[in-house]
Amino acid sequence: MESTEPTRSWSAGLGDGTRTVRAGLPEPVKYEPTLPGPVFAAHFHLPGDPTGPYTYGRDENPTWTHLERALGELEAPGEQDVQTLVFASGMAAISAVLFSQLRAGDTVVMPDDGYQALPLVHEQLRAYGIEVRTAPTGGDAQLSVLEGARLLWIETPSNPGLDVCDIRRLARAAHEAGALVAVDNTLATPLGQRPLELGADFSVASDTKGTTGHGDILLGHVSCRDPRLAADVRRWRKIVGAIPGPMEAWLAHRSLATLQLRVDRQCASALALAEALGKRGEVTGLRYPGLPDDPSHPVAATQMRRFGPVVSFVLPDKAWAERFLDGLRLVDDATSFGGVRSTAERRGRWGGDAVPEGFIRFSVGAEDPDDLIADVLRALDRADGDDDRAAR
Ligand SMILES: *Cc1c(COP(=O)(O)O)cnc(C)c1O
Repeated sequence: MESTEPTRSWSAGLGDGTRTVRAGLPEPVKYEPTLPGPVFAAHFHLPGDPTGPYTYGRDENPTWTHLERALGELEAPGEQDVQTLVFASGMAAISAVLFSQLRAGDTVVMPDDGYQALPLVHEQLRAYGIEVRTAPTGGDAQLSVLEGARLLWIETPSNPGLDVCDIRRLARAAHEAGALVAVDNTLATPLGQRPLELGADFSVASDTKGTTGHGDILLGHVSCRDPRLAADVRRWRKIVGAIPGPMEAWLAHRSLATLQLRVDRQCASALALAEALGKRGEVTGLRYPGLPDDPSHPVAATQMRRFGPVVSFVLPDKAWAERFLDGLRLVDDATSFGGVRSTAERRGRWGGDAVPEGFIRFSVGAEDPDDLIADVLRALDRADGDDDRAAR
């Protein structure tokens, strides 16, 4: 039996579904709602000395507190010393870690195949006198450039290439080299991967994606155990003011209740879709970390609990990829991922990612898998340049 230490919270040992529906709920109060509604307040009644949790709305808000507790429960189930801070977007959360930790003269190691906005971040860091070193995610290549770094930034699985690195191994090496470790966990969500348990100092995510999962809000968060690091991030949030509105925070908390249902459906359908795509002659470069023969699978299987909603693959050329996207009826041609409605896009349209023109990033939603796969196969048939086949 698991030992129950006094610091263990109510959710230690529960399943993910139970934990997600209850995470962050306050103690029951007679005649009060289960999840109290959003608190709209720029300031709070505050007679006397300004102490206590709620003084001014840029610093703290009770609706954030509930959501932060919920996200903390998912990031580190049963642990009570984890602090979580919510932000107005994923980029606000990412910037809060980088810019609160790095000073002129420091070195940071970043992926060269990560989120699209990272090159802009590199530029800004360099403008502040910070050395930015980059290496690919796959093959743990960041290990080779760790020497003297202050912070290692990991994104695994990487977006959009779906390469994976070994978080435990990189975190151990970074700590030996005296560096802090942050993991962008957006693609996996805390149900897919728990970076703090794997050795990271910060788990960071855009909750715009799968965590909230309805494609209708922007949000981000940072979780960490070290109270000094949490205080740095909190101070940064106060200075920059990149705070979520109470309505967004409340909607996010409401959305969390279905996280396990959504993610389980998405991951099962993503694997089925990847298997169906693997049988198609026109599809190359198929990637899904959950596919047993994917190059990412061996490492992913040691650190991921679910493999995420994103599948990527390459069609022969740009026109072919556009015909495919155009032919889909149940899948929106849109960016972003992790939502209940499937989306797909030709990633090369943005520039910036090193991907072929026919590269498709496909985010699997919560549709019935048979409907979704039939729609994809029909759109592939129609996209085939061969007229005979398209006419069928
Ligand atoms: C979308 C995304 C971000 C940025 O999040 P926003 O909420 O759009 O600011 C950061 N990292 C990854 C991996 C993402 O997919």
